[in-house]
Order: sequence, then C-alpha cells, then structure tokens
Amino acid sequence: MLQTLKTYFGYDSFRPLQENIIRHILAKKDSLVLMPTGGGKSICYQLPAILSDGTTVVVSPLISLMKDQVESLQANGIYARAMNSANNETENLILRKECLEGKVKLLYISPERLLMEMNFLLKDMKISLFAIDEAHCISQWGHDFRPEYTQLKSIREQFPQVPIVALTATADKITREDIIKQLDLKEPEVFISSFDRPNLNLTVKRGFQQKDKTRAILEFIKQHPGECGIIYCMSRDKTEKVAEMLEKYGITTTVYHAGLNAKARDKAQDDFINDRVQVVCATIAFGMGIDKSNVRWVIHYNMPKSIESFYQEIGRAGRDGLKSDTLLFYSLGDLVMLSKFAIDSGQQDINLEKLNRMQQYAESDICRRRILLNYFGENMEHDCGNCDVCRNPPERFDGSIIVQKALSAIARTNQQIGTRMLVAILRGNYFQELTEKGYDKLKTFGAGRDVPQQDWMDYLLQMLNMGYIEVAYNENNHLKITPSGVKVLYGQEKAMLVVIKREEKTPNKGKKKKAEKESKPMFNAITLSDEGMDKELFEELRVLRKRLADEQGIPPYIILTDKTLHLIAIQRPTTLEAFGMVSGIGEYKKEKYGKVFVEAIRNFLQ
Ligand code: ADP
Ligand code: ZN
Repeated sequence: MLQTLKTYFGYDSFRPLQENIIRHILAKKDSLVLMPTGGGKSICYQLPAILSDGTTVVVSPLISLMKDQVESLQANGIYARAMNSANNETENLILRKECLEGKVKLLYISPERLLMEMNFLLKDMKISLFAIDEAHCISQWGHDFRPEYTQLKSIREQFPQVPIVALTATADKITREDIIKQLDLKEPEVFISSFDRPNLNLTVKRGFQQKDKTRAILEFIKQHPGECGIIYCMSRDKTEKVAEMLEKYGITTTVYHAGLNAKARDKAQDDFINDRVQVVCATIAFGMGIDKSNVRWVIHYNMPKSIESFYQEIGRAGRDGLKSDTLLFYSLGDLVMLSKFAIDSGQQDINLEKLNRMQQYAESDICRRRILLNYFGENMEHDCGNCDVCRNPPERFDGSIIVQKALSAIARTNQQIGTRMLVAILRGNYFQELTEKGYDKLKTFGAGRDVPQQDWMDYLLQMLNMGYIEVAYNENNHLKITPSGVKVLYGQEKAMLVVIKREEKTPNKGKKKKAEKESKPMFNAITLSDEGMDKELFEELRVLRKRLADEQGIPPYIILTDKTLHLIAIQRPTTLEAFGMVSGIGEYKKEKYGKVFVEAIRNFLQ
C-alpha cells in the first residue's frame, strides 16, 4: 500500500485513518468516511481502485468535480474517465468499450447516468468498488439534498457483492445515519477523522463599517500578493460592488452568484480555477464544485447564518495543507438582518439557535478553534495558537460610563429608537427626524461626542452580546434595556468592555496593473510560509507550472500543488532522482515534468 501511495501519488505516509479505511475496503467491507474538506478522502478509494481488479465506480454530483478528479488522476498516470451529460455520443462509445475491456481504473459517473446504465453497461463490467462521493446529498437533513441521490439505493440491490464506501465532509449525526440507511450499507465501519484544519488561521474583525472593510480587505490582499482567495458576501449586489472596488485597485476579480446565467457562472469558476483571476466575490452559491487546492484565503464580508456554513466556506481554503488565512467581518447590521431572516424562515427556533452559536464564535474571547471543534462535538484540550484570540487576547476595561450613557439615552426616549438614532443622539448630530421628536433636548444629547461613531457601533454590539440590551425585531428593531442593563444603568454592576483595536492603514490607490498574457501567471509574488525558500525561484517555477498548465489545458494546481511547488523551491532538486523524492511527485510526474523542472533549477542556481 505504501509503495503504491509513493509510486502514484508521491506521498511517503498515510494521513490518520486513510490506511485503516483502505484495508477495510480491500477486505470488501462497507464503510462510511467522514473527513473535513481537504482531509484526503479521495485517496481512500483511489488507492483500492489501483490495487483491485476491475473498475471502481465513483458517483459524484457535479461535472466540475468529476473533471477535476479525472484530471488529477490522469496527471498521476492513472486511467480515469467521467461519464456524464458533458460527453458526446462518440466519446461515450469509446468509453463504453474501454470500460468493458477493463481499461478504466476509475469511472466517475453522475447519479442520473448511473441509473441509466445500471442494467446495461454496469452489468457487463467488472466493478471492484462503488464510491459515493458527497454522500450527504442523499439526505434531506444534509444541506445539499439532491433527489437523484436517493435512487442510489438500487446499487445495493443490483450489486450485492460489491463493497460500497460513502464519503462526506458533513458530520452531523442524523445525516450520517440517513446515509447508512438509504444506501443499505451492511454493518459499515464508520470512520470519523478530526475536523480540525490547523493550517487555517482564524480571524474576526468586529464592527467594521463598509469603509473600514474596504480598507481592511485591501490591506489583507496586499499581505497575500498573487494568492487566490474567495470573498463571500450576503447579497448578489454586494458581490458586484466589492468586485468593482477591487478592480479599481488593480486586483483581478470575478463575480459568482445565482443571478448569473450558467455560462457566466462557468466562466467565473473556470477563470478562478485556472489562476486567471485572483479573487472571486461570491454568494454562498459558490464552492461546491470547487476542488481547487490552492485557495490561499477566504474572507466573509458578512457573517454567515450558521457555523456549518461558515466552516464549509472557510474549508475551501488550504486544501493542500499549506497555511491559509480566513477573515470574518462581523457587524451589528449583519446580526440584525440575519436575525430577521431567521425569524421569518419558518424554522425560527432552530435558525435563531444556529445564528446564536455563530455569534458566540464571532464574539469569543477564548480560542476560536476550540469553539468550532466543540460545535462539531470534538473536544480540544489546548488553545490553537493560530487564531486572533490566541495571538492577541482581548483586553477589557471598565466601560460602565459608556454603557450608562447609551442606556440612559435609550431610557429617555422610552425605548423607541434603533441603533442609528441612538448613536446620533449620543454624538449630538442634528437631523430632521431627531429634532422633530425633540431628542436634541434630551440630557444625553451629545453626551458621547468624545467616542467616534464607529466605536459606538462596536460598543453597542458588545452591549448586545453582554445582554445589556436587546433588539425588538417585531418593533422596527428598537432597542430595549434588559434587567442586567438596568443594573449597570443604576451603578449596581460594572460593565467590562473590550478595548477596540484598529490597525489598518489605507493603501494607496494602486497603479492599475495591466492584464497580463495567458502564458504567465498573473501574479508576481508569494508569501507562503517560506522558511528557507527562495521567492525568486518559487516565482520562476510558478511561471513554468502555469506554462505547462496552459499547454495541456488543465489548472496549474493539477500539474503540481502549491505545497509540492513550495517543497521543490526549498529542496531545489538538481537531479531527476532528487526530484522524484519530493512529496507529491509520483513516478508519472517525475517522468513527465522532472526534466524541465530540474533544468529550470539548475539554470537558476547558475
Ligand atoms: P478531500 O476530498 O477530503 O477534500 P483530497 O482527497 O482532495 O481531500 O485531499 C486533499 C489534499 O491532500 C490533496 O492535495 C491530496 O493530494 C493531499 N493528500 C491526501 N492524502 C495525503 C497523504 N497521505 N500525504 C500527503 N498529502 C495527502
Ligand atoms: Zn486559538
């Protein structure tokens, strides 16, 4: 098994559970595999496929996922093909023949197509294993339910002797049980790996208004020159606005949301996968079909509605295991809006609870990773050291006077105002509605002039989270004082607020970069964890990789992952032999790319 792993995939050891899973499959037993995105699920069925006689049939929900997997396998010299609606009849004819001859090691197939072929092609082939990828699609409890998947039941009926492995990154218990039941898995072993993604850095920025977000995003991207990332936004409109802003600063960006037609969506996805644009601004519609391993960062422009969504979205960064950054903006406006959605959703209790847990994550002053893993039922006993709280624990100060000013203003308006009016009163701003109501005559009018507007928004969010105020969603979002707020208002209790830190500077509006030619990667620098790595060499190798990718019409990360490229730049192999030792280089890639890379390194060193 290890030999095969090295020969075909170029890796020296298995990740936790992979070996057990593979043994189990080779013993022809059923299994359910739960691993986070990037955990290494594919190898669990690809290695048995190589080691077994016949063909492994992989059911996959999306053409783009199949394409990516097939290209990756072929790039490692493994004969894989896909059968789906993207094929024409001639292709299918050839493919059928190859399947019957037993040439195809892995056949990726859509669920619809699988059903069509159940009594024809599949009956005449020698099938070693059925792998059901994204198996949560079978369950109504999962978040990507696909009716076609429910018919996969018939696999067990038609092929009782072939083992089945179901794989998913969705951890919850109901979904798990549902998958086992619906696929009729026989005494399956359930393999659950840790859901920790230690390479993902977690950061939250609280209370940023649009301008601050813009500034912070530009600064963030400046810290990630040339590295691809996703910005998730709550609305279609926002994706376009953010993209427009980035383009203005010379950052190549595309947009993806459900309002675009299929062609435009495909193009956006394709541009992103092939490193033709650096950033995609997207709604949650984006991501399921993305196996791109070199997404280096994910920003949430708005807070997601649950930890599940959040974890899935940030999980799209760093699949190759290299350090990647995630940044979440969290503001009062988002919270109000999301609460309203939850209340109107028809499943108020559960959705509010989910939102509540998300909010706790965003507000946490303990290690954020502990909160995430705890949410997924995993106990983590130490702080992670790779989140903003671990790196920079929040400081608190006695903010009782600030809180009292706000509460007093709310009280003096008979709790009939929302946040904007409250801040206007505190800051002493005049405007028509305020003076009409006589709020400029209140004793608290202008009492908080010394605190900037933005900071007021932050403190109000903190007050909300500490339970001093609540938002009456059914009363125009007016603010109400809670019993614990009353205690602070009357000086019976202290309010310890978190010190606000804002470190971002405004980057200069950049010189617009010219669109670069296809054959060059559009980016020109790299900031990976680069101990001992020569950036110039890495850059040269990256250009070489992009050229090879363009020549073959496949994405650069399929030629070599960022991680492997990174290792090459550190180890600087100058012989074919040494090149083949680099993790991620199997026999096939050694033969195919060894010479050009070794040559490039030799030239560089000279
Ligand atoms: P998943 O399908 O679970 O999201 P993948 O199967 O795509 O994850 O694997 C993620 C990355 O990890 C891929 O680049 C893969 O080549 C790599 N990988 C998988 N197993 C190993 C291993 N044993 N050693 C090193 N890298 C691995
Ligand atoms: Zn931490």
